[in-house]
Amino acid sequence: MKCPRCNSTKINKNGHHHGKQNYICKQCSRQFVEFYSSRGYSEDARQICLHMYASGIGLRAIERATGISHNTVINWLRQASAVLPEATEAEENSDSGSSVAHLKPLQPIKKFSEKGNVAFSLDAY
Ligand SMILES: [Zn+2]
Repeated sequence: MKCPRCNSTKINKNGHHHGKQNYICKQCSRQFVEFYSSRGYSEDARQICLHMYASGIGLRAIERATGISHNTVINWLRQASAVLPEATEAEENSDSGSSVAHLKPLQPIKKFSEKGNVAFSLDAY
């Protein structure tokens, strides 16, 4: 739990507000509720940004593509640094186009029979 304004972890509980735990920052006196994090972006948005970053897309490019501030993404990266999603990438590349491997190798084209020549050869005797 961190203060959304100053990132201080010196937080006091401050009663309840609309059923959610209310907090107050001891450092800057900012009041906020639980899950205030990152200006209300959805978990999906967070996952997409983290995945884009993990794919090598820069923070500015992510900001242009999603409209989410690079500062927000940096905060998410800090929060997620302990649990970066790496397992999802490798699975996408397997199990597609494997049917090609099962095709038989090309049969050599059967040559025309040369029977006729053999038949004619009988007359030579
Ligand atoms: Zn604060």
